[in-house]
Amino acid sequence: MDKRKRVPVAKQKPGERVKNFNEVSLGYSETEARQEASRCLQCKKAACIQGCPVGINIPEFIRFIREGQPRQSFKSLYQKNVLPAICGRVCPQETQCEQLCVLGKKGEPVAIGRLERFAADWAREHGHSVGFKGLTSDQVEGKVAVVGSGPAGLTCAAELANGGVSVTIFESLHRPGGVLVYGIPEFRLPKSIVTYEVDQLKKAGVEIVTDVVVGKTLTIPDLFRLGYQSVFVASGAGLPSFLRIPGENLLRVYSANEFLTRVNLMGAFRFPEADTPVDIGRRVAVIGGGNVAMDAARCSLRLSADEVWVLYRRTEEELPARLEEYENAKEEGIIFQFLVSPVEILGNADGYVTGVKVLRNQLGEPDESGRRRPVPVAGSETVFNFDTVIVAIGQNPNPIILLSFPQLKTGKNGIIEVDPETGATSVPGVFAGGDVSTGAATVISAMGAGKRAAKSIIEYLKLRQKGNR
Ligand SMILES: Cc1cc2nc3c(=O)[nH]c(=O)nc-3n(C[C@H](O)[C@H](O)[C@H](O)COP(=O)(O)OP(=O)(O)OC[C@H]3O[C@@H](n4cnc5c(N)ncnc54)[C@H](O)[C@@H]3O)c2cc1C
Repeated sequence: MDKRKRVPVAKQKPGERVKNFNEVSLGYSETEARQEASRCLQCKKAACIQGCPVGINIPEFIRFIREGQPRQSFKSLYQKNVLPAICGRVCPQETQCEQLCVLGKKGEPVAIGRLERFAADWAREHGHSVGFKGLTSDQVEGKVAVVGSGPAGLTCAAELANGGVSVTIFESLHRPGGVLVYGIPEFRLPKSIVTYEVDQLKKAGVEIVTDVVVGKTLTIPDLFRLGYQSVFVASGAGLPSFLRIPGENLLRVYSANEFLTRVNLMGAFRFPEADTPVDIGRRVAVIGGGNVAMDAARCSLRLSADEVWVLYRRTEEELPARLEEYENAKEEGIIFQFLVSPVEILGNADGYVTGVKVLRNQLGEPDESGRRRPVPVAGSETVFNFDTVIVAIGQNPNPIILLSFPQLKTGKNGIIEVDPETGATSVPGVFAGGDVSTGAATVISAMGAGKRAAKSIIEYLKLRQKGNR
């Protein structure tokens, strides 16, 4: 075996997987996991840990796998990450822990994400759970409300419960998990995995109340009146951005959020067994280049589309999607058109989409994101024929909470302003974190924010109690 290369992971073949919603990656067997784990150099000053927003002791959990102790490996992981089977599947490790792995200098970095998935799957399949007992000695009494059950809310709630706090999550949807259930498709993250990891948190003391829209059903001041001493707002960034071009209100133009919610949360892919179909045609254009765009494109292909194109305004090099998912999308036959910006969606007399008019771009100087700005080329209009358009160009926080609680200071696009170290907002006792305070980001960064906020909330409760003595 060439030690510079990682142990490959089995995947469903592209021709088969486009006909189903089953998981694409099949994960490592125990033998493969041990083989891959043996590549880890067990660095004394492990750079990889610096790349993990929740601070997993990466060499330790990998060493346990190598030594044939997956139970211990899982225990080590769970101390820092209460959603390991999820993170092992969806974290962008290539830009985080794996990017800092020294093996990456001369070959391929250790497949940390795949090993994390292995340890978490092993524990689940062997009925092995560890709960929170003994994970922290930082205990305090108190009652805290968390708004939103995505990765930020779940992690904060777990840390608080672990610290002895009575914690209730209020979730507006009928299922907990946030983007993990309504956004990321089954073939990347099976919903049974999310349910399992959320159930572990419930068993360990996290209460989750669904179908409560904070800002409508209850406001933040109502939560304080109900006896909650602190509130953590983790309501994510679920409000889709639109292109604001002519034709965007034609039939069969969707925001990726609506499209993916219908598919993932409402089970449109199981229609007629599920009673919420989604109407798409045969030629689908997805506009955008992030994970959301890849998910929308790959779901379309698994529904009724014959051809799916992704239209992205920059080049392959700037594509923000995870590399693995871009590669998977290409393998499945998704067609990528780079350096194009839609300027109009065209339709017929019945109001249905018939095509997209684009301008070709050149790359100019870098913009504030550091990526080279797309500059439209005058006179380069081109029309492509499509019967469905899915817009996946970004999301911002939903303003519902803020409309009922304007005291919370916000910045651009309704992002709640927080102290990044503590998650404290402009209102004492109210903390926020995850996408609602950063804009659309990643699962692990939301989890990191949830952890930091939990620590600050515990400090806040302690100070309050001292003050009341
Ligand atoms: C399609 C898609 C694919 C993605 N793929 C990846 C990926 O592969 N890897 C990765 O790392 N990241 C990915 N991301 C980004 C990642 O999922 C998010 O950054 C992460 O989920 C943010 O976590 P959060 O807890 O802040 O918010 P969310 O996951 O958005 O959770 C917020 C929760 O709050 C609830 N809520 C909102 N408003 C209210 C209210 N008023 N009252 C009560 N509840 C409320 C929402 O219903 C939701 O359940 C993806 C995002 C999308 C949309």
